Amino acid sequence: MRPNNPDECDMPELPEVETVMRGLAPSMEGEVIASVDVHRPDLRWPFPENMSGRLAGQKVLRLRRRSKYILADLAGGESLLIHLGMSGRMTVSGDPLGQFAHNHPPLEKHDHVIFNMVNGARIAFNDPRRFGAMDLLNTATAESHKLLAKIGPEPLGNSFSEDTLVAAFKNRSSPVKTALLDQRIVAGLGNIYVCEVLHMTGISPTRPAGKLSRKRVASLVPAIRQVLEAAIKAGGSSLKDFRSAGGELGYFQHSFRAYGREGETCVNEGCKGAIKRITQSGRSTFYCNMCQR
Ligand SMILES: [Zn+2]
Repeated sequence: MRPNNPDECDMPELPEVETVMRGLAPSMEGEVIASVDVHRPDLRWPFPENMSGRLAGQKVLRLRRRSKYILADLAGGESLLIHLGMSGRMTVSGDPLGQFAHNHPPLEKHDHVIFNMVNGARIAFNDPRRFGAMDLLNTATAESHKLLAKIGPEPLGNSFSEDTLVAAFKNRSSPVKTALLDQRIVAGLGNIYVCEVLHMTGISPTRPAGKLSRKRVASLVPAIRQVLEAAIKAGGSSLKDFRSAGGELGYFQHSFRAYGREGETCVNEGCKGAIKRITQSGRSTFYCNMCQR
């Protein structure tokens, strides 16, 4: 079934977006966009006015990530915001040094936006379901853009801490699973990594967030960082050979503790439980009801 809201899909989450961004960096960062081909008027929303005109000739000063958004800061003072939605993919072809500027595979059916770099690289944004989005915003005020203004702290940054999480959970009656998916509380977490974090910390996904002890809330902070960093590392190893995979960035093989393992034996040592699947707020939750309390 096709969800109506991209936030209901399980991919991509922060580590996948980080991997895409790192994969784009060699071809885009410090490089100049020669031209942009836009093959349709919109994705999830209409593209910004004259997008290709505003991007052509611009140098990409740097790429960065905020939550699940990639931002390309341009020399002219605007930033290109890219959201991969639920099926958006970026494919890089050509050689960044320009020797093989014309050595690109034929375009594919859902290649909606093509970035042609002066260095000869070509980046295709492919999105069959069109839940992705692009926008152009003023770099100086990017953080106040409607999509970014209400996003909470980056889980791998210094502003995310035991204190901020305890404060955010205070008096919350919603289940801890739902609270961790709330982008205002912590940025970039989605269904997969929240299931993993809760399994790692032994916290039941159904427990009300506000009822957890400070110690248990505190245990979530390093677990979140550990799970995300491991996934980013797995994404990094997939980048090493991404050329052999057709230059497609961002979706990599990764093994999970609980997510997608319904009926399988719990991996926690000494636990005889099996992974159960329940539905919370319309999303599948995978957990062990023996060791997650
Ligand atoms: Zn268990």
